[in-house]
Amino acid sequence: MSDPYAGKDELRAALDYVVAESHRYLGGLDDSRVRMPGADEAPARLAGPLPEHGEGALEALRALVERGLDGAIRSSGPRFFHFVQGGTTPAALGADWLVSTLDQNPGMWVASPLAEGLEVVVLDWLKDLFGIPQAWGGVLTTGAQMANFTGLAAGRRWWAAQHGTDVERDGLAGLPQMPVFTSGLVHPTAIKAIGMLGVGRDQVRMPVAGGAGHLDIDHLRSMLEDLRGDPALLIATAGEPNAGAFDPIHEMADLAEQYGCWLHIDGAFGLFGALSDRSRHLLSGMERAHSIISDGHKWLNVPYDCGFAFVREASLLVGTFGIGASYLSPVEDEHPNAAFLSPESSRRARALPIWATLRAYGRRGYAEMVNRHLDLAQHLATRIDAAEDLERLTDVVLNIVCFRYHPAGEPADRLDEINGRLAEAIIQDGRVYVGGTVYEGKRALRPAIVNWRTTERDIDEIVAVVREVGRALV
Ligand SMILES: *Cc1c(COP(=O)(O)O)cnc(C)c1O
Repeated sequence: MSDPYAGKDELRAALDYVVAESHRYLGGLDDSRVRMPGADEAPARLAGPLPEHGEGALEALRALVERGLDGAIRSSGPRFFHFVQGGTTPAALGADWLVSTLDQNPGMWVASPLAEGLEVVVLDWLKDLFGIPQAWGGVLTTGAQMANFTGLAAGRRWWAAQHGTDVERDGLAGLPQMPVFTSGLVHPTAIKAIGMLGVGRDQVRMPVAGGAGHLDIDHLRSMLEDLRGDPALLIATAGEPNAGAFDPIHEMADLAEQYGCWLHIDGAFGLFGALSDRSRHLLSGMERAHSIISDGHKWLNVPYDCGFAFVREASLLVGTFGIGASYLSPVEDEHPNAAFLSPESSRRARALPIWATLRAYGRRGYAEMVNRHLDLAQHLATRIDAAEDLERLTDVVLNIVCFRYHPAGEPADRLDEINGRLAEAIIQDGRVYVGGTVYEGKRALRPAIVNWRTTERDIDEIVAVVREVGRALV
C-alpha cells in the first residue's frame, strides 16, 4: 500500500472493524479493571521506525487494537475516580463518531453552517442549564484550561480598557501591573492562564485563612481598599479538586461591585452543582460575575476534548480574539464565526456531542445524574465513617470525598508515608482508580464521582480496595 487513494476500497472494512472492536471494549467497561496488567508496555509495542511502505488501513487498525488497547486506562468506565474525568454518554459518543465522519471545521460559518450554528444553539442551552443570562457571549474550548484563558483574556482586555489601552493592539508595556486576587482553592490552570496572558504567575495574590486554602474575605477587602479605585481581577473557584470546596461567590460578587473588579468563576465541574436543588446555593450570585467557565469532558460526559467559556460582555470576545485577512470572512459578518471568539482558529466540531447528549437526556436527565452522584458521594462518606481504619478529612459538599487510611495503632507521623504509598499501590492494583493528594498537610485520597455509569457497587469497591491494599502495606 502506498498512496491513501490506492486504499480507498478499505474504508468499509476499516470502519466495520472499529465498530466491532468498539462494542467489545464498551461492552466490557462496566466490569473491567481500570488498568490492564502491562499497561505501561503497550506504547513500546507500537513504536519502531517510520514505515517506509504502508500496510493499509485494516492492518494498521488491527495493530493498534491488538497491541495498544491494554495501554488504554478504562477512564470512561465507572470506577475511574482519579482527577475529575467524565465518561461518554451513548448519545455523545455516537455524535462524536459523526464529528470525525463529517470532519467539519467550525471556525467560519461558510466552512460549516451545521457545526457553527449548533455551537450557538448549545451555548444557549448550556446557559439555560446553568442559569447564566442568555445575553452573555460564549465559545467552546478544548477544556477548562483554555476556557480559563478565554475568560481571563476578556478580563484583561476590560482591565486595560479601564486604563485607556487596547491591550490586544498595544500590548502590556506602559500599563501598571494587573492586580489578580484569588483563594488557595484556585486551580493551577487559572494561574497558568494568567502567566500566558503576560501578567506573571507569581503576581496572583491569595489572601487565605486556614490550611485548606479558604478565602479570607476581610483580608481581600483590605487589599482591594489599598488599590484606591484601581480595577482588578478576582478569580473564584466553584468546586476545587481536593474536596469539592467553593469560594464564597456571593461575597466576592459584592466586593467586585463595590471595588469595580472583574469576577471570573472557574466551575470546571462545580458549575454542574447548579443542576441540583441540594447544591445550587453554592453558586448563588454567579450571574453577577463577568466570566464563567466549565468543562464538557467532566460532568457533562462528552468525549475529550470539550470546555466552555461565557462572558457577560460579548463584544470583549471578538475584541480579544478577532482576526482579519482578505480570504477570511469579515469580523462584522451576518453569521457567527467562532474563530473570532476563541484562542483557536480551526477547531473540532465539539457542539455535536453536546447537542446530542442534551437532546437525548434533557435538563431532567442531567439533574437526575448529578443528584445520583451527590447521593453516591454521601454513601461513600457513610461507608468511610463506619470503617474503623478509614478517616474522612472534611465535609462532602459536592461529589468529592477526601479521606485517608488510618489503621489503629499507627503513629501519626507514619500516616503520610503509608497514604502516599497507598495511592500509588491502588493505581498499580488497577481495580479502581483513586488519586492521592495533600489536604491540610495530610496525605489523602480524593475520589471524584462524575461518570454516568457509576453505581453504588463501584463506590463500595473503593472502600474494599483501599482497605485491602492498605492492610497489605502496613
Ligand atoms: C479540571 C479543572 C480544570 C482544568 O480543566 P481541563 O479540562 O483539564 O483543562 C480547571 N479548573 C478546575 C476547577 C478543574 O477541576
